[in-house]
Amino acid sequence: MFEKSINAYEEAKQVIPGGVDSPVRAFTSVGGTPPFIDRGEGAYLIDIDGNKYLDFVQSWGPLIFGHCNEEIEKAVIETVKKGLSFGAPSVLETELASEIVEMYDHIDKVRFVSSGTEATMSAIRLARGVTGRNDIIKFVGNYHGHSDSLLVQAGSGLATFGTPSSPGVPADLTKHTIVCEYNNLEDLRKCFEQSNDIACVIMEPIAGNMGLVPASAEFLKECRELCDKNGTLLILDEVMTGFRTSLTGAHGLIDVKGDIITFGKVIGAGMPVGAFAASKEIMGHLSPDGAVYQAGTLSGNPVAMAAGLTSLRKLKANPEIYEELNKKAVRLTSGLKKVAEDNGIGLQVDTRGSMFGFFFADKMPTNFKEVSEYCNFERFGKFHHEMIKRGFYFACSQYEAGFMCTVITDEMIDECIAAANEVMKTL
Ligand code: PMP
Repeated sequence: MFEKSINAYEEAKQVIPGGVDSPVRAFTSVGGTPPFIDRGEGAYLIDIDGNKYLDFVQSWGPLIFGHCNEEIEKAVIETVKKGLSFGAPSVLETELASEIVEMYDHIDKVRFVSSGTEATMSAIRLARGVTGRNDIIKFVGNYHGHSDSLLVQAGSGLATFGTPSSPGVPADLTKHTIVCEYNNLEDLRKCFEQSNDIACVIMEPIAGNMGLVPASAEFLKECRELCDKNGTLLILDEVMTGFRTSLTGAHGLIDVKGDIITFGKVIGAGMPVGAFAASKEIMGHLSPDGAVYQAGTLSGNPVAMAAGLTSLRKLKANPEIYEELNKKAVRLTSGLKKVAEDNGIGLQVDTRGSMFGFFFADKMPTNFKEVSEYCNFERFGKFHHEMIKRGFYFACSQYEAGFMCTVITDEMIDECIAAANEVMKTL
């Protein structure tokens, strides 16, 4: 059933490292050949062999309305006809920035970039520029893109300065990154004791890059307090959660506010867009108003802005979408949990808005170490493989979250649960 994809993968490997342009796409952690996609149709992906999959990945989050939404397509096509890029300002940028700013009472200005990686990298530079400090705190299992200072792993223990997690990253560039365990208050306090030069803490307030693992309310509160006490800025990375978990992203579901917020994914509706935002005082430090340099040839690209703008306006016009999406996410995850348990398999599930996660484990992990230590990866791999064969496309790693979109129906979800029931019997 995968002949064409198998061939396409072999050919791709000749000219593209690993055959993919982003490592997770190679299905390394679950094995097998990644289906090469021909097109999307609403809730479904269709591969070049003609297999159809119910898509719970939605391009890793951006497509909250599913594939080929008519209004977004129309906006994109109309904008394309006027030109692809100008390298000069367009009013679409102001319109999209205004839609974002309107949602958060503590942010005034937004700068657009072309990816989540750029958003977090620029936010950190801004935080360092504003505070005049060098060090940053990052949490194990939070992912903020692949810029050098964020590709770190814990050194000899936690609450220490990190060491590079990838060859090619000089230790000189990670020596300013203090690595902390997520949801561990004691560790967080120790991190702040490591240095009096901490510019910022960067955090996924609802982590989606070690499966779905939310920060606890007390952890968030103490983190905010420690930042305030130490003159450190808090960057809340909403690249994944922004306009996905609620109209105000993770901020809508938690009690603390970030000083700088980063966006990506949903604000571009599938086009390459990222952004970072803050108060006018903080953003005033950014070039050309201030001295902190940041730029991009394709930043604020009109086609990307048109896609994001249409998507955000649709969401704002129909805010009930978030509750409906969460109901569907709960329907899916509670259904999966039930069929797992019926078959004697432990499954931990959680949702936040339209994001969901499940772990083959007997208790819910709260940090990366727990996910790695007691979630059953072999079982996940088999589950993933069997579900793909039956036409259900889940994220290809237990370290990833899942995403619901508006065109996935209850009937589709129930079909998925019935298929999962069959699969669970074989695990
Ligand atoms: N931050 C978070 C929270 C993310 O989930 C991601 C990507 N999954 C990024 C940053 C990096 O975004 P991009 O892949 O667009 O560079």
